[in-house]
Amino acid sequence: MPELPEVEIVCRGLNDAFVGHRLTKVIRRFAQLRWPIPDDLEQSILGVSGSSGRGDAGILRSVQRRSKYLLLGFDTGTLLIHLGMSGTLRRLTAAEPTRAHDHVDFVFGEQVLRFNDPRRFGAILWYGDSEGPGGSHHLLRRLGVEPFSEAFSGRLMFEATRGRSVSIKQVLLSGAVVVGVGNIYASESLFRAGIRPTSAAGRISKPRYERLAGSIRQTLTDAIAAGGSTLRDFVASTGQSGYFQLQCFVYGRGGEPCRVCATPIRVIRQQQRATFFCPSCQKA
Ligand SMILES: [Zn+2]
Repeated sequence: MPELPEVEIVCRGLNDAFVGHRLTKVIRRFAQLRWPIPDDLEQSILGVSGSSGRGDAGILRSVQRRSKYLLLGFDTGTLLIHLGMSGTLRRLTAAEPTRAHDHVDFVFGEQVLRFNDPRRFGAILWYGDSEGPGGSHHLLRRLGVEPFSEAFSGRLMFEATRGRSVSIKQVLLSGAVVVGVGNIYASESLFRAGIRPTSAAGRISKPRYERLAGSIRQTLTDAIAAGGSTLRDFVASTGQSGYFQLQCFVYGRGGEPCRVCATPIRVIRQQQRATFFCPSCQKA
């Protein structure tokens, strides 16, 4: 499943390849993703109904990432894309034959941005300018802060968790405080911060949260750097990029010796997800 680092890499790839280019056509082959793809998507982007004749209609102005959503900014509104469980976006020439699960093409003249999604949990939605800025879409409004934003800090996590008895790993995975810390990155960040994943979030001190905030940023930065080097030919994630390149301390290493202290790494289940930790390096 594409995680924040993979989506960030896709975002950077889209910026390099498509910003400033003009979308000329949308080809929908299959519309039923997590939600239906709007049937008037092309007209919405190009603004055909209202302000036809504008010379720059369809030019992609910006690509941003919010959590795991990609926000493609046009003069008429924002195209929201989510890769779901198995979505990919590939940059191809318009003549490239389609394959199974190639549901949508965004045609930019000679080049195409092609969305493929075998499991169809992805989403392609339109948020017109009249509805507000792209970031105010209802799917985005309640998300936690971005891990690379100034708003994210140890103090924020500390204050958001006072009185809470749920585990720190559950808080990270929920995305309610900070977005983008999926299962792998939660295990790795907690190891780097020396915090046991089962620790009650409300009992972790502010200095330890400050350390955790730093380790979350560092872990995600490392994954983006690792993934970026493997994806040069694609705009897109295959869903199995970044973390396979990441030198994990604990994730996927149950029973193997800790890279720091040689104690065997333990595996437990929390909310049906595997959690990996070193019982010696990570304190409750
Ligand atoms: Zn250890």
